[in-house]
Amino acid sequence: MNAVSNLALERESRVGTIAFIDLKAQQKRIRQRVEKRLIDVLDHGRYIAGPEIAELEEKLQEKTGAYKVIACASGTDALIIPMMGLGLSAQDAVFIPAFTYNATANAVLIAGATPVFVDVDPDTFNICPVDLQAKIDAVKADGKLNPAVVCTVDLFGLPADYPAINKIAATERLKVFADAAQSFGGKQDDTWVGNLAPVSGTSFFPGKALGAYGDAGATFVQSEDMAEVCESIRWHGTDAQRRESVRVGMNGRLDTFQAAVLLEKLEIFYEELDARKNIAAIYAENLGDAARAQGGYARTENGFGYYTVRVENRDAVREAMGTAGVPTAVYYQQPLHQMQAFAKYAPQGGLPNCEKLADQVLSLPMHPYLSEDQALFVCEVLQAAVKEKAK
Ligand SMILES: *Cc1c(COP(=O)(O)O)cnc(C)c1O
Repeated sequence: MNAVSNLALERESRVGTIAFIDLKAQQKRIRQRVEKRLIDVLDHGRYIAGPEIAELEEKLQEKTGAYKVIACASGTDALIIPMMGLGLSAQDAVFIPAFTYNATANAVLIAGATPVFVDVDPDTFNICPVDLQAKIDAVKADGKLNPAVVCTVDLFGLPADYPAINKIAATERLKVFADAAQSFGGKQDDTWVGNLAPVSGTSFFPGKALGAYGDAGATFVQSEDMAEVCESIRWHGTDAQRRESVRVGMNGRLDTFQAAVLLEKLEIFYEELDARKNIAAIYAENLGDAARAQGGYARTENGFGYYTVRVENRDAVREAMGTAGVPTAVYYQQPLHQMQAFAKYAPQGGLPNCEKLADQVLSLPMHPYLSEDQALFVCEVLQAAVKEKAK
C-alpha cells in the first residue's frame, strides 16, 4: 500500500481539494434561487415573523410528520424553549448523555433543572439504555432529585435507541425529549426525526446537514399544548395576541432571512441526504480494519450529519491525514462531565465509554458534494495513516 507521503503527493492530481464540509458547492447550485428569496424579503420588509417563517414551519411539519414546528433563532433556543416549557425546577433530574455538544447541558441548566450525566454506548455513541436505568435507580436511591426527563442526543445523525428509551421512560414516568440537532433527515421505524419524541429540537447551524446562512433551529412537538407553550416562550412569554406576558419567556424567534434561505435548501435536502448516504456506504465498505465506524440500530437510518469512526492513536492518525490533505474533526475532545461548568454534576467513577470515545473518535469529510473518488481516497489515506502510526 501507498504510504501517506506518496498519497500526499498524488492527491491534487487524483482527487483535487477535499473539503470537510462544502457549503460553496451547494451555494453554487442554489445561489440564484436564494438570491430571489432574499430579494422577496427585502421587498416585503417583514424581517421578523415574515411569511417565510410560516411557510418553513409548514414544510418542516409536512416533511417530518410532526404535529407542529416552531422555528427558533438557533438549535440551542430550540432546546431551551421547550425545556423551559416543561416547567422544571432544580429538584428535577434531566438525564443526558455526557458525550455531546455543551448546548445539551446548557439547555437543561438554563431551564432551571439539574442534569444527570449518563454514559453512552461504545458502538453507537448514543445514550446507553442500561446506564440510563442505572442512573435513574441511583437518583431514586439517593432521594434528592426527582427523575423527570430523559433527553436523548442523536449523535452524528443516528437517532437514539428510542424503543429502549421509551420503554424505560414509560416505566419510570419520564418525559422523553430529543436533542436532534445533528439528525435532521434521520429515520426510525418509518418515522422521521422530528416526530420520534414528544419534543425534538434541531439545529440549522450552517455546518449541520440542513444549514442556514447564520444561526437557526426548530422545535418539533407532538401536541397542541406544547406548541402553544413554545410559541409563547419564543415570543417573550406572551399570550396568543402577543400582548400580556403570561409566563417568563425570551426572544427566540428565527429571522425571516434565515427562513428564506432554509426554504431553498430544503428543496434539495433529500437529494443531498441520498448523496450523504452514498458516501457513508463507500466509507463503510472501504475502512477495512483501520477504524470502526459508528454502529446503528435495526430499522434506523442515520442522517449522516457527520461520519465518525473510532481509531487507535487518533491524534497521530489525524495529523498524518492532514498532511495528505484530508481534513478531519474531533467531536468531542472532552465529555461534558469533565468540563469546568458541569464538573459538579460528574458521577462518581466517571463515565468510561464517554472518556474513551473522547480519545478515539475522528470525523471524516462528509457532505453531499464529495465525489466517490474522494471518499475512496479518504479511506486509502486513513488506512495508510493507521498503518504508519501503529509502527
Ligand atoms: C449544534 C448542536 C446544538 C446547538 O445548535 P446551535 O444551532 O449551534 O445552537 C445542540 N446540540 C447538539 C448535539 C449540537 O450538535
